[in-house]
Amino acid sequence: MIDTIQKYKDYVMTGFVKSVAPIVIDRASGTSVWDANGREYLDCFSGISVVNAGHNSPRVIAAAKAQMDKLIHCCSYLYHVQPVADLAEKIAQVAPRGLTKTFFGNGGAEAIEGAMKLARLYTGKHEFIALHGSFHGRTWGTLSITGNQSRKKRGGPYAPGVSFAPSPYAYRSLWPNDPEHCARHCAKCLDDVIRFETSGDVAAFIAEPVLGEGGIVVPPKNYFCEIKKVLDQHGILFIADEVQTGFGRTGKMFALEHYGVEPDMLVTAKGIADGFPLSAFTTRPEIAATYKPGDHLSTFGGNPVSCAAALANIQFLQDEDLPARAAENGEYAMQKLREIQKHSPLIGEVRGLGLMIGVELVRDEKLTPANSEAEAVRDALLRQGVLVGVGGVYGNVVRFQPPLIITQEQIDRAVSAFATALATIAQPASV
Ligand code: PLP
Repeated sequence: MIDTIQKYKDYVMTGFVKSVAPIVIDRASGTSVWDANGREYLDCFSGISVVNAGHNSPRVIAAAKAQMDKLIHCCSYLYHVQPVADLAEKIAQVAPRGLTKTFFGNGGAEAIEGAMKLARLYTGKHEFIALHGSFHGRTWGTLSITGNQSRKKRGGPYAPGVSFAPSPYAYRSLWPNDPEHCARHCAKCLDDVIRFETSGDVAAFIAEPVLGEGGIVVPPKNYFCEIKKVLDQHGILFIADEVQTGFGRTGKMFALEHYGVEPDMLVTAKGIADGFPLSAFTTRPEIAATYKPGDHLSTFGGNPVSCAAALANIQFLQDEDLPARAAENGEYAMQKLREIQKHSPLIGEVRGLGLMIGVELVRDEKLTPANSEAEAVRDALLRQGVLVGVGGVYGNVVRFQPPLIITQEQIDRAVSAFATALATIAQPASV
């Protein structure tokens, strides 16, 4: 264990968290991971919202192993490969209406870049609009459309032709008790951004249906309908970044289904293959037809093993109706967390959709972000054997995004550990 931690220090570039959690994960199954000393942890973060069907889901593993015995790689864009075809067909069946053609990549940022490129080619326009607080990846192009300075620091200047509109973060808006008003205001702001900040040549608006890294910001019910009206008036495409929200996480197969709006392009990754590296963007045939020979390729994209795993994963999500379970257990978890909120002034808001839940910690009524407290809660939970994430534009949101197979007993365990962690950090510092 110490050997691995030392090798990380000596040889691995770790460029995100201040310090990588001081444990070595050795194996995993279902909702649990075990460290190299054999200690079990309840995983309420799913490897950043990835293993929706649970760690090492037997059906996914079986499909991947069978594929590995046959074919691992030959480049799925030079030759026909069955799992790629089968998966693309499956995605066409589950994706929002009309989106039937898919390009496969390896990770979220790569798929976002591909979708942006396709939007530019299809529309012949070159500008983009994204949201304040958004996150779309770590490449230069995706950072250019990411609306969060903490992710962009020291990397500028970024791509020209990108404008940002306010996100419907009702809790920190002027209308915390009237989220629908907040949504209408944001739609009006989008219209203003188009009119006053762009040249009018906007290819696409890109948004996460629930902002993940931005702090689990759930747009009000009317938000995407209001936004879509504005986009349609200006003839702007809508790219839904469902990298984090897709595949059952929010209680529906895709989060936009909660809003009754259909995008022009759907971008997915994370939960698509239960941990195997794969991403996708999916669109209507007439948009997809814009790509001509030579326009786009990914050597590893559509890897046969990842595609076979994804196919088994999606089938499992459907057979077990995991989106519905996520909806039910997400409500259960949020209700338990709101019970704790009644006795903890540190909790500003509990919010979420399905099993994508954020608890925003604040120090006072001015909503001063309690960011060091959020990190302390995460660390205290780790000591109690529960893994959670921390995020948000201000770094003060504790994130619960467990595998969708989590049981209510396990949720009780996580929530009770959370209450203990809060109580620990709420103690006045001893002098
Ligand atoms: N889009 C969203 C909404 C994300 O949450 C992420 C990653 O957290 C990405 C894109 C980038 O995905 P990846 O890290 O696989 O490149």
